[in-house]
Amino acid sequence: MKGLDARGRRRPVSSGAKGLDRLALLGGTPVFDAAPAPYPSIGPAEAEAVMSVVRSGSLSAFYGSPGDKYLGGPLVRAFEEAWSRRFGVEHTVSVNSATSGLTAAMGAIGVGPGDEVIVPPYTMSATAIAPLAYGAIPVFADIEPETFCLDVGAVERALSPRTRAILAVNLFGHPARLRELRALADSRGLFLVEDNAQGPLAMEDGRYAGTVGHLGVFSLNYHKHIHAGEGGMCVTNDDRLAQRLRMIRNHGENVVEAWEVDDISNMIGFNLRLTEMSAAVGLAQLEQADRHVGAREALAGRLSRELAGLAGLTVPAVRQGCRHVSYIWAARLDARKLGVSRDLFGKALAAEGVPNSRGYVRPLYLLPAFQRRTALGREGFPFNLSQVKYERGICPVTERMHFEELLGLETCASDPTDDYAEKVVRAIRKVHENRAALAASG
Ligand SMILES: *Cc1c(COP(=O)(O)O)cnc(C)c1O
Repeated sequence: MKGLDARGRRRPVSSGAKGLDRLALLGGTPVFDAAPAPYPSIGPAEAEAVMSVVRSGSLSAFYGSPGDKYLGGPLVRAFEEAWSRRFGVEHTVSVNSATSGLTAAMGAIGVGPGDEVIVPPYTMSATAIAPLAYGAIPVFADIEPETFCLDVGAVERALSPRTRAILAVNLFGHPARLRELRALADSRGLFLVEDNAQGPLAMEDGRYAGTVGHLGVFSLNYHKHIHAGEGGMCVTNDDRLAQRLRMIRNHGENVVEAWEVDDISNMIGFNLRLTEMSAAVGLAQLEQADRHVGAREALAGRLSRELAGLAGLTVPAVRQGCRHVSYIWAARLDARKLGVSRDLFGKALAAEGVPNSRGYVRPLYLLPAFQRRTALGREGFPFNLSQVKYERGICPVTERMHFEELLGLETCASDPTDDYAEKVVRAIRKVHENRAALAASG
């Protein structure tokens, strides 16, 4: 049928029958003639919510001392309760970022100097820095190539007598092997903490990502699926962990006597409090979470369906029983099958007007903090307590994904209209069809 290929998919319109349209990188016309519109994340509900807080004059109702106001104002509490209901957890403790939440989580579970926390190297830096704030040592375990999340076998090999916790990341919105990691943690008396900054409403076997570990942390940063500009939400079913999180959030040293807390380790607190305005925005965002998450998921689903089967390009995997909410649509490119490198492919795609990342973040052990074994003070603490290695090569799968294979498209940044999705697909197909010319040019 005219306009459809052999598998019933629409042929790319601009490429013409033979797909010979010249690549923008080689002087042709880009698929996008203007930057796509940003995702419209904030609407009238958020504006009204903020204005009503402003009109009330009470922009934050926290006090840093024991009493009524220690746990925050009405909107902070309402937001935490709504979050607990939505995710089916006992406790939610709001904080001012996921970075704060991850740090507080490390304090709450009780890690201290010289303890080891197993983390993946392929994640935002905050994941691996959080243990360091308490003098604990991040130990990097490699990832699975299919989902870019922790490889359970690698976690087992990284265990030592000093391991206290596993900090798993549900990267790009796909759940790590949470059930398996929880079982492993429980069998060894360790904590499983989830960094679920990128996976709100993601699921594994009917359970929300972020709620399978002993403690989970969500982000409300502007770049995430739902946001309040800045913010983070910690969830747990453990009363004791919840109490410790609340103390770390708000000058814990001031309440340990009033609350008759026995274990005051790590209970020197910070000010990690959310404002009433952020809570108001967060509440409105939570009410619309299905729509905001669904829109990005639908875009990623469409890219995967329409681009599946291109030689040398593997669309993101979704493990059986999982819901992948696609913070990033991460394809894998095989340079040998394509005849062109991932980097050149990505550059050509960018020239068509589709921003993309070649790789994600550098494997975190390559950061100067690890390479130079310098974090707290000048004497190499806490690395001087440990023999853990951070050389290039310790996580070969991560390095291959990052330096050679992964091509990422942000799904949260642009308004995922039909026109936008159609153009992204067309641009990727165009680069793919013209890869021989691209290779010859390079
Ligand atoms: C964004 C992000 C964070 C940090 O979140 P903030 O709310 O910006 O502090 C941590 N981990 C991962 C995996 C992230 O994507």
